[in-house]
Amino acid sequence: MSLAADWRAARPPVAGLHLDSAACSRQSFAALAAAAAHARHEAEVGGYVAAEAAAPALEAGLAAFGALTGMAGADTVFTTGSLNALDLLLSGWPGRRTLACLPGEYGPNLAVMAANGFQRRELPVDGAGRLLIDEAAAVLATDPPDLVHLTAIGSHRGVVQPLREMAPVCRVAGVPLVVDAAQALGQVDCAVGAAAVYSSSRKWLAGPRGAGALAVTPELADRLRPRLPPGLGDVDVAARVGFSVALGEHLAAGPAAVRARLAELGTLTRQVLEAAPGWRVVEPVDEPSAITTLAPTNGADPVAVRARLIAEHRIVTTAAGIERAPGELTTPVLRISPHVDTVAEDLAVLAAALA
Ligand SMILES: *Cc1c(COP(=O)(O)O)cnc(C)c1O
Repeated sequence: MSLAADWRAARPPVAGLHLDSAACSRQSFAALAAAAAHARHEAEVGGYVAAEAAAPALEAGLAAFGALTGMAGADTVFTTGSLNALDLLLSGWPGRRTLACLPGEYGPNLAVMAANGFQRRELPVDGAGRLLIDEAAAVLATDPPDLVHLTAIGSHRGVVQPLREMAPVCRVAGVPLVVDAAQALGQVDCAVGAAAVYSSSRKWLAGPRGAGALAVTPELADRLRPRLPPGLGDVDVAARVGFSVALGEHLAAGPAAVRARLAELGTLTRQVLEAAPGWRVVEPVDEPSAITTLAPTNGADPVAVRARLIAEHRIVTTAAGIERAPGELTTPVLRISPHVDTVAEDLAVLAAALA
């Protein structure tokens, strides 16, 4: 069977059209069953005994996350999501706290940076919000910040940042590169030699909500001074078990094949929506991500359109307000984010519903 058919057959049937994977993908039967079985096991033998029994599955999940980020499983930890990972990292940062990030940085990340007392400067970008590597290298050479934070794909725009090119630039400048891979993991190769990479379970990896992971090189981990001792507080072990299964399924499907299919779908989506009256496709048509954003050209309200698409057509999309990227968005956008099982006919249905 094809990747698309396999992916679709591995999940409950979809009600309508799910074009919202950048927010939350559809979980597989296997991931759902593993989390449910763990919760049941907690009821049978006790939550702490069940957690011990789940240790090998969780270790496999961390090893998979390590493989996808170019790190060892031993250098990765589970989190409750991407923001939690960023907070863990920044709250333990040693010494001076300055960072450089994109003007289009994710709004909630800006709040975490500010809450941890980081001073922020912006990296140079082109008109699409894409990092300019040579200019960035010059900035890092003259006045290096304490870390570079690169959100490899934003929440508000499907532009793929030059992550692979930036990693050696940071290495040469001696500045740790921290990668927000919440949208990038699954869509682009994130094993590029960064100092830290974090991501979420529920987005392109299609795991449960409320889980994520953070990978940190031993060199950086040794320097961090965690604000709280590790392992404090309760965790959703069932979600981590489900995420581990989802990571394993992603590796089994073939990360390169998934990335290629998602890139192809992004192009297809933009081609289909290019002519949508009242909307402008923000990304270049061949941008290698499955995120397409539509900016209204005639006063349409993405929040109202999203609600109408669900109510009248059972099509799920995202309305992204300017708070998602306050330094870059000037108007709310409608975000279309299909996963690998989407076919051309689905996108034609969306185009017709939008019109
Ligand atoms: C969703 C998202 C986050 C936050 O992830 P959570 O798991 O909800 O904490 C961070 N960065 C980007 C780019 C995102 O899209």
